[in-house]
This record gives sequence, structure tokens and C-alpha cells, in this order.
Amino acid sequence: MSNQKLLVVGTMAFDEIITPSETSGKVLGGAATYIGLAAAYAQAETGIVSVVGNDFTEEHLQLLRDRNIDLSGVEQVADQPSFYWKGKYHSNMNSRDTLDTQLNVLANFSPKVPTYFKDARVVMLGNLDPNVQQQVLDQLTPNPQRVVLLDTMNFWMDSQLEALLRVIKQVDVITINDEEAIQLSGKNNLVMAAKAIHAMGPSFVIIKKGEHGALLFHSEGPFYAPALPLDQVIDPTGAGDSFAGGLSGYLTKQNAVTAKEIKQGILYGTAAASICVGGMGTKGLEKADGQVFAHQLQKLEQLRTIV
Ligand code: AMP
Repeated sequence: MSNQKLLVVGTMAFDEIITPSETSGKVLGGAATYIGLAAAYAQAETGIVSVVGNDFTEEHLQLLRDRNIDLSGVEQVADQPSFYWKGKYHSNMNSRDTLDTQLNVLANFSPKVPTYFKDARVVMLGNLDPNVQQQVLDQLTPNPQRVVLLDTMNFWMDSQLEALLRVIKQVDVITINDEEAIQLSGKNNLVMAAKAIHAMGPSFVIIKKGEHGALLFHSEGPFYAPALPLDQVIDPTGAGDSFAGGLSGYLTKQNAVTAKEIKQGILYGTAAASICVGGMGTKGLEKADGQVFAHQLQKLEQLRTIV
């Protein structure tokens, strides 16, 4: 069996989130933060590569270390603030506007993958500049059993499309939301969009549809995983990253990765996302332990079973 190491690259950030009922103030966020917290449910051996600024405190870092996440690949820059994102949700919470994105420390970031994680079995390229994602891929040592996953968003399609397409060519699994799949592919139907993205490189194309679940497209036909119906969504920020974290964490613990493991991993991702949206920022994931996660997985099974 190959190693069970999960290498994550992505933003570590401060976010300000405005929902119809609450304004968060500056809170911990970032794609890699959510991915790491969600992957911890699978007890994957996770290492993050990222950059933070002088506003990141020891307390924020300790929160991740407490979940056995290795931060030796996280650089701290002394004279600049961390990546910052501000978003406002519409009244139905299904869509949001980005009000501000400040790259700050990310603008001149050159990632350094710790030697220990260079042979990682699973590499999760979280949402971040595709040039940085590429630099991470370039530092890896070969592992024939490696699985590379990618999550991205419209910001990078708008600003770094060429670099993004180059990275997409090298990944096995892409997770992308429905609107972004349409933007990336230029098609206006999800099945056609998935086919077009599949042709760009990834064997597995996962299209996230928010509260309507996720669709997997691969050579054996589509698979659908509903999201858990929830009576309360506090804040959807990070749901996509938590999905990626749950999925990649699960895959890291498997001996082989075929369509079967990807499908089960999608359930892990769905369970992690359902926990994430139950609190403001990272609070949902911070509060829920492994037992809560197992309970969410069980509820997902029930949702899909006829008795
Ligand atoms: P999600 O709701 O899953 O799309 O993830 C939201 C998280 O992504 C927030 O914590 C942000 O800090 C982070 N984020 C927002 N915009 C970007 C971006 N352009 N690149 C990387 N991360 C981002």
C-alpha cells in the first residue's frame, strides 16, 4: 500500500461574511483551512502548503495543529496581511457577491513543499492561483498511485485561464460548481459542460450544485449524491472547500481509487459540507467532532435507502 499522506495547497485567509441575518467581522477562512479541517474527519495525515501574514495568530495555527495538520509548509510573512475575502449572500443564501478580494501575501508567494510530503499519495490543489498550484506539482516526487484533485473558481478563470487550463490537464479529479463549469466549458448544459471538462484532462468531473447536491461524471456514466436537507443554513462559505476536504481525506485512506471510492468520497465531502454550513465561517467544523460527522454520514445513507 502507498503512503497515506494528503498534501493540500490553498489559501489561508481572513474573511468577512455578510448573510441576511448576520455579519461576521473578520474571521478565519481560506480554502486550505476548510479543506484541512474537513479532511481531519477521515484522519488523513495532512500537510498544508500556504502563506499567511502578520495578522495570523498562534491561536489560528494551533486550531489546525490540534487536528494533526502539519503546517511546516505554511510560510508566515512579517510585513503584510493575509489573503482577505469579503462576500455577501443574497436572501436565499444560494448565491453571493464577492465584495472584495485582496491577495496581500499571496501576490508574491512561492510555495515550498516540505520534503516529507513530496511523495504524497493524494494532492488536493485547493482554490488558489493556478501558477502556485503548478509550482506545487513541479516539486512533487513520483508516486505511481498518486491522485491529484483540483478545486477552482471563476476568479481564476477570469484572471489566469491559460495557467488554469495547464493545471487542469494534469489532474485526475476536478470539483467545480455548476455556474463555473458552464463558464469554463462555454457550454450551457451541465452534461455537455462535464464532457468538455473531461476532455481537458480529468477522468472524474464533479459538479457541485450547492443545496442540490453533486453530480459525478466519468467514463461509466453519471452518479448523483444529494445534499442533506437542512433546516438551518447559517453560512455557506467554505462548503465547496469542505466538500473537497472530506473527499480528499477519504481517498487518502483507501488502497485504490476507482469510481467506487470516488463515490463514497463524495458522501464524505457532502457530510463535511453539511457541517460547515451550520456555523459562521469555520465554526461549524470547529465544533463538530468525529461522532457528529459519523451521524451526518448515517443521515446521508438513510436519505438514499428505501425501506
Ligand atoms: P467556498 O465558499 O467553498 O467557495 O470557499 C470560500 C473560501 O474561499 C473563503 O474562506 C475565502 O477566503 C476563499 N476564497 C475566496 N476567494 C478566493 C480566491 N479567489 N482564491 C482562493 N480562495 C478564495
